[in-house]
Amino acid sequence: MLDREMLYEALHKEIPILTTQIRKLYAELDQKFHLEGAKVPMTFGMDRDCLGSYTQAGGGEREHFHFSLLFVGYSVEHPLSRDDRMDLYKHEYAHYMQAHMKIPEKYQWQTGKHGSAWKYCCSLVGAAPTPYYKAGEALMNHDYDKVLKSKIHDHTVPMRDHYRREQEYKKTRDSKVQYQVGDSVEHPKFGAGSIEKVEQRAGGVHLHIRFEDGVRKMDQKWVLQTTRYRKAGDR
Ligand SMILES: [Zn+2]
Repeated sequence: MLDREMLYEALHKEIPILTTQIRKLYAELDQKFHLEGAKVPMTFGMDRDCLGSYTQAGGGEREHFHFSLLFVGYSVEHPLSRDDRMDLYKHEYAHYMQAHMKIPEKYQWQTGKHGSAWKYCCSLVGAAPTPYYKAGEALMNHDYDKVLKSKIHDHTVPMRDHYRREQEYKKTRDSKVQYQVGDSVEHPKFGAGSIEKVEQRAGGVHLHIRFEDGVRKMDQKWVLQTTRYRKAGDR
């Protein structure tokens, strides 16, 4: 196995190859959509929690694409598959498109970095219309029609395109106490309940809730998803 310094050196040597590959793809897409994405500066780093990003000009920032060599490089222990790599490049290009193209009004119903306008751009370039990277997803058939029309609330948070931090976010959210004793909840099956005890556990929070038929111990994660909630004191 390469030690870290050797790995970094090997990855740095890949920059010209990667740049050429990405530019080639972007030039093809540019031609199709009359854009100039291939001319946008590209930077590379050793980010551990971010696969790539597109930054718009403004607020002191120069427009650029950024990719982490730890993900797009070939010298790493588990390189991305060709399809996942291409999908990541297209994912970022879709962000660029969104900033430079006129998006039809009917695709503007969902805001956010990975909202419907971005998904519309994904449908044009064939990128997976999901904000977070999942291995192998590039190979799936994407139902653009569904994601572009569905008004279902999108629970994803507007963060950069990575998966590690998303997992961390979920973990923190799950273990952060969201309720307090005395709060009321409305469960679809058990009815009205009142929180009697909040128990912080490793990896989660357990709530003891008094319903009409007795006290139930429930994971906060599920309570958040299934119940309506009224804070203590609110009417
Ligand atoms: Zn993104």
